[in-house]
Amino acid sequence: MNQPKRLILILGDQLDKQNAALKDYDFQRDEVIMIESVPEAQVVWSHKAKIALFLSAMRHFAQELKAEGYSVHYIQDSSLSIVDALKDALEKKNISQLVCIEPGEWRLKQDIEKLAKDANFHLDMREDDHFYCSHREFREWAANKKELRLEFFYRLMRKTHDILLDKDGNPEGGQWNFDQDNRKPYPKSGPGIIETPILFEPDAITRDVIAFVKKQYPEHPGSLDHFRWPVTREQALEALQYFVDYRLRNFGIYQDAMWTDTPYGWHSILSSSLNLKLLNPREVIAAVVDAWKKYSLDLSTVEGFIRQILGWREFVRGMYYLDMPKMAADNYYDHQRSLPSWYWTGKTNMRCMQNAIGQTLNYGYAHHIQRLMVTGNFALLAEILPSAVCDWYLAVYVDAIEWVELPNTAGMALFANGGRFTSKPYIASGAYIKRMSNYCGDCQYKPDVRFGETACPVTTLYWNFLIQHREQFDGNPRTRLMTANLKKIHDADQAAIVEHAQKILNNLDRL
Ligand code: FAD
Ligand code: SF4
Repeated sequence: MNQPKRLILILGDQLDKQNAALKDYDFQRDEVIMIESVPEAQVVWSHKAKIALFLSAMRHFAQELKAEGYSVHYIQDSSLSIVDALKDALEKKNISQLVCIEPGEWRLKQDIEKLAKDANFHLDMREDDHFYCSHREFREWAANKKELRLEFFYRLMRKTHDILLDKDGNPEGGQWNFDQDNRKPYPKSGPGIIETPILFEPDAITRDVIAFVKKQYPEHPGSLDHFRWPVTREQALEALQYFVDYRLRNFGIYQDAMWTDTPYGWHSILSSSLNLKLLNPREVIAAVVDAWKKYSLDLSTVEGFIRQILGWREFVRGMYYLDMPKMAADNYYDHQRSLPSWYWTGKTNMRCMQNAIGQTLNYGYAHHIQRLMVTGNFALLAEILPSAVCDWYLAVYVDAIEWVELPNTAGMALFANGGRFTSKPYIASGAYIKRMSNYCGDCQYKPDVRFGETACPVTTLYWNFLIQHREQFDGNPRTRLMTANLKKIHDADQAAIVEHAQKILNNLDRL
């Protein structure tokens, strides 16, 4: 008997030919559908480079599928949402079976499920086996745990998947965590010569996409002048190999360091390729382990890197699906202020923000500490509404997809879920930024001045935050030291900090 025809939906972040939706593809009866949706690029005010990366990678992927004999219905520049375009295609083609992988965005997942119910077609939504940890495994791990902490999850992942273990099943080097050897600032003289990451000249498809994005989304933030992202699996593999051969060696030690005109540092810049699924985390970890042995790299850098992929990346995904949709609405501190307009332009006098936001607009990239301890730290201290901050992160980074962006922003940077998976709010004064970067050198503000005209806004808002939340910080052994330092500040100076902070908070746009 003839099997009914199926439509296989491939979203822009599911560009892997081995993916769960394609594994039983039937060349006789199935058809792939890929949709470029204009409204989708406008759910948040997306960076031009992010739109271009998704479209270019999708077009390349469709071309590869076609070359291998897949039947591909590729919808370009649709004015419909993904769900409406899908409904339209199912109706026109008279198909009643849809196969897809669970989208990395809760809203879209709900919308597709609703469409299937309303339009009465059979939906086969499959879990994304790109990840090491399934939803079930994560739920089982999280069940009945008082505290959900990365460290314990990460150790379980190392053991389950036999990664960086010695022959007796113990962690290589005798410890699970080498953080104390990592995370140094660059020398005072600067970072020295850093191997430039491999960058890819736009080919004809990418050039077309760039021209299209410039025309279609002229008002969107960000530049396309520096667009050099990998857009195919072949390029992503090349980028991975280059990273492990030349840049991994100093990843760990300078993981947290920041320096002007050094947008990538020693980071891998592999997140967009991983999140688009051009790369599989298993091959990334295998390449890192190989390089460790081949080049006798320090275990600290190798463990530090693997922790990010096998630990954080899997952990935040587990948390996203565990806590949605609540995670998107959480606002532990009830912060309500608007995002300062300069988050979209970089036009502020604060050098640290200028640098982090400036490179974000240029490249669609900033590394973890810039996201967490510069833009994220400021947004928390400045009492910005978490959903506004999350929208900004989702818009401006080329690697931003909600399953990874939201837990990092709402959960880690903003403490919006009250510490569900972090033991304390990540806050720091200008002193931290001064220690980890050269940003403060030519800033008009002084990182160690707490109030007054030359006071660093980050520092003023940091102490103000501690004063406002003194009880919470006093009650937590991990943060008690911070409030102990507060006790060393005279009452009159504390009052001056609060007064100055109010002025800043009421004029955030003018900083
Ligand atoms: P590297 O520093 O070289 O790290 C290697 C890889 O580890 C990354 O490519 C990434 O896949 C993974 N990784 C590292 N840290 C994390 C983390 N905290 N969570 C998940 N994966 C991690 N990452 C995204 O991929 N998309 C996002 O939208 C995103 N939003 C963030 C928002 C905030 C507020 C913060 C603090 C972090 C966010 N991150 C996000 C995590 C991290 O900053 C980026 O993964 C990293 O900067 C990407 O650059 P890289 O590839 O050079 O990473
Ligand atoms: Fe940022 Fe303050 Fe340093 Fe200026 S002084 S760069 S505002 S931390």
